[in-house]
Formats: sequence, C-alpha cells, structure tokens
Amino acid sequence: MRTTVLQSGNLPISKMWPRIGDEIVADERFDAVVVGAGPAGTAAAYTMAKGGLKVALIERGEFPGAKNIFGGVLYRKQLEDLIPEFWKEAPLERTIVEQRLWILGGDSAVTFGHRNLKYKEPPNCWTGLRVKFDQWFAGKAEQAGAIPIYETVVTELLLENGRVVGVRTDREDGDLRANIVVIADGVNSLLGKSLGIHREWRPDEVSLAVKEVIALPKQTIQDRFNLEDDEGCTIEFVGHMHGMAGLGFLYTNQDTLSLGVGVMVSDLRNKRIKPYEVLEGIKRHPMIQRLIQGGEVKEYSGHLIPEGGLDSMPPLAGDGWMICGDAAQMVNAVHREGTNLAVTSGRLAGETAIAAHAKGDFSAAALDEYTKAVRDSFIYKDLKKYRGVHGLLAMGASDLLFEKFPQALNDAAYEMLLVDGVPKKVKQKAAVGHLRDVAGGNWKLLRLALKGWRAMNG
Ligand SMILES: Cc1cc2nc3c(=O)[nH]c(=O)nc-3n(C[C@H](O)[C@H](O)[C@H](O)COP(=O)(O)OP(=O)(O)OC[C@H]3O[C@@H](n4cnc5c(N)ncnc54)[C@H](O)[C@@H]3O)c2cc1C
Repeated sequence: MRTTVLQSGNLPISKMWPRIGDEIVADERFDAVVVGAGPAGTAAAYTMAKGGLKVALIERGEFPGAKNIFGGVLYRKQLEDLIPEFWKEAPLERTIVEQRLWILGGDSAVTFGHRNLKYKEPPNCWTGLRVKFDQWFAGKAEQAGAIPIYETVVTELLLENGRVVGVRTDREDGDLRANIVVIADGVNSLLGKSLGIHREWRPDEVSLAVKEVIALPKQTIQDRFNLEDDEGCTIEFVGHMHGMAGLGFLYTNQDTLSLGVGVMVSDLRNKRIKPYEVLEGIKRHPMIQRLIQGGEVKEYSGHLIPEGGLDSMPPLAGDGWMICGDAAQMVNAVHREGTNLAVTSGRLAGETAIAAHAKGDFSAAALDEYTKAVRDSFIYKDLKKYRGVHGLLAMGASDLLFEKFPQALNDAAYEMLLVDGVPKKVKQKAAVGHLRDVAGGNWKLLRLALKGWRAMNG
C-alpha cells in the first residue's frame, strides 16, 4: 500500500501511514517498533534512531502527551544522559529549589522540608506538564530519525514460532513487522498481558491518582510559596485520606498548581470511597486550602500508578521484545520517581537493540543484555532497597499508618510545643504516649518501627 507524504512535525490526522519526506509502504520492515510515546518509549526510539536504526514510534493519542498525566517532577540526570543540556530548550515549568513533606492531622501538619538554591545550578529537577513535555521529547526522537505514527493503537503483537516479529494496529492493513518490539505502553500494558509476562495487576499493586491543575496568577504563586522568578516548590503529604495508603502532592508550575492524591486501589475498594472525595477532603484541609484559595480548576484527570515494586516486575526481555517503564512496574513510589526510571529503561532497551542489530541476533539471550543493564542500574538497586514497602502497605495497616499515626504525631507535636506551665518531662511522656497508645503498646510500637526500617532498607 502506498500513500501520500506527511511533513515532519505534522500530526497524522487520518489513518494514512505517515512517513517523513518520502512515500511509505505500510508493510515495510522496521529495525524496531516502539509502542507508546511516553518517557520510556520515546527514550528508546530516540536512542535507536540516533544509533542509526529504522524505528517507528507508535502512539495511540492524537499526539504524545495527549493522554498522559503525572504529578509531575522531571529529573535532570537521566534525561541529560540522552540529551545534554536539554533544559535549555525543553518546555519545563519551574526549577525546584524546595521540597516539603507534610504529615497531616485533621487540621494541622507536622512539616519537614529542604530549601537550597544549589538545586538551581546545575538544576536537580523541575515541575512539568506532560502535554507539553511529551510532545517536545517525541519531537526530539523524530528529529533523530524516528518515524512518528500517532493516533494509532497497537492491538496485538505479531508472533511467529513463539517470537515477536511485529505489531498489529487498528489501521487499515495495520501490520508492522520489525526485528524488535519495545513495549512501553504504560501501566495497563495490554501487550505485556498478551505475552503472558504479567497478569492484571492486583488492587494492592496499583494506586489510583487524581489530579487537578489549578490556575492562579504567577505572582500569587510566588508569594504563597516564597519563590522568585522560575523557582519552584513541591509539597508531598500523607494523612487525612480516610485512613487509606496514599500520597498527595501540590506542585508549583508557572501560573498553575498541580494538586493530586494517589491512593492504593485496594483501600479505595475496601473503604468504598471515590478518589475525588479524597481530593475534595484534601482541598478543604486548612494547610492546603489557603495555598489554592482563589484558584480556578482548569483540568481534572486520573491515572493508575504501578506500585508493586521489584516483586511485581515482569521478565524484561524475550525473543524479539523488551518491556520498559510503567509497563514493567518501574516506579519508585517512596521518592515519587517514575519518569527517570522510564527514561533510563528506554535508553537501555535502545542501546541493547543497537547491539543486537550489530550482531544480527534478536533472540531472548541477546536481548537479555537489557535485563542485565537494568539490574546494574539505579532502577533495580532502588527498587530493591524499597522492596519491603509494598508488603508493609499491603499488610492491612493503612488506617494505623496513614491516619492514626499522622494524627498522633500532630497531637504529640502540639503537646510538646504548647507552653502551659506543665513540666517538660511530663509533656514528653504524654507526647510519646500518643504514639504508643495508637500502636497498642510499647512493644507493638517498637515492632512496627523495626518493620518500617526493614521495609525501607531491603
Ligand atoms: C498522578 C501521577 C503523578 C506522578 N508523578 C510523578 C512525578 O512527579 N515524577 C515522576 O518521575 N513520575 C511521576 N509519575 C509516574 C510517571 O508518570 C510514570 O512512571 C511515567 O510516565 C512512565 O512512563 P512510560 O513511558 O512507561 O508510560 P506512560 O507515560 O504511561 O506512556 C505510555 C504511552 O503509551 C501509549 N499507549 C498505551 N497503550 C498503547 C497502545 N496499545 N498503542 C499505542 N500507544 C499506546 C499511551 O498513550 C502513553 O502515551 C506520576 C504518575 C501519575 C499517574
């Protein structure tokens, strides 16, 4: 099938096969096909195209980012490994100079944080919006030579004698053949399931996040968060979420705030609470309410986050395929890192594909180099460190860990800081008593602290 040409940068608006600067043949063979133009897929496509491979980047959205949301914090190091000084041209919101953690009680908070202007030079991380960032990043892959095929859903993998040889799409004559398929289709990963390498995630392996983008004048944001120019601030919070395991976030963009909560699906199901009810409760909390006051909600969206950790990670490679990013459960929920794991896994898959093409070997053994590279990287090491966290959260103690303890900590702090003539020794006893009573005794408190320590240091 031959069709007309689309220019570089044009978004494919019909079911024609797009090809830059030439006619295309729908059933032509690619060195590699990448499914999904999120951070993982685009990093893989960019790496392979730069390495001289003929790559198709397939995305179901009208354009990359059209269907994607995140908090979102983007990190320098992993993207810089691909595109040096990318921040000089990428559409980023604010350079983060302060990160805060709030432990919420009903109407109070115990707060921690770190502000340091050293985070500006070199930058450490930024806030961003996927709708802008993903388009820019995919544009870099296109410039490197990847062929964009958007508004196209990959419906299944093509298999021959047990090896993946391409993809079937929802386009007319929609098969694309390739030596390697990089699966980067995100948390639901229908393709991963179709390969049998993972099943439907259990409700305790994923959290459901909802997010609002709230518009406020730039100066108001800067005044409320004590920021200048392009400086940014992030706030993460736990507690005050109906006793469910969850993390909330409030991030500063140029003239909007990103406010959201992500709560474990098993807890939402058990408590029969809807995620937007959690978000509404958070918006009424006095610590949050005064920061978003007067803002106008511009967007509302929801998305799953894979939180199973290392024990939920599927096999990463097989005959003719590799799997990256969220599709492979590569999220470090403790540090709210996902995009950097996605970018690095995409890059490593891309580098493995280049080496495989040099040898002409696309077997599981050849592509297993990708698994080894992931194991040697921070992805595996960080997920290994926090391996026990999932078990801790899944042990049915959400109410204790995410509601009663945060409240007890707030009560204890109030007790200690209130100057009312009561001797400090008595106060200290009462403050510790708040925590001990919630845990159910000194031993239980100690055991829980030990479990927590082990979970964070696997
Ligand atoms: C609310 C929220 C807040 C987050 N906050 C942060 C944060 O602050 N910092 C951070 O680093 N990470 C954060 N994350 C995690 C981060 O967004 C993900 O880890 C990261 O986006 C994973 O990238 P990916 O490319 O693997 O998957 P995705 O970004 O999900 O991309 C997958 C792509 O595949 C496409 N696709 C899916 N199926 C098909 C198909 N069959 N055919 C064609 N295309 C398909 C999708 O449209 C999508 O574009 C957050 C996530 C959420 C939901």
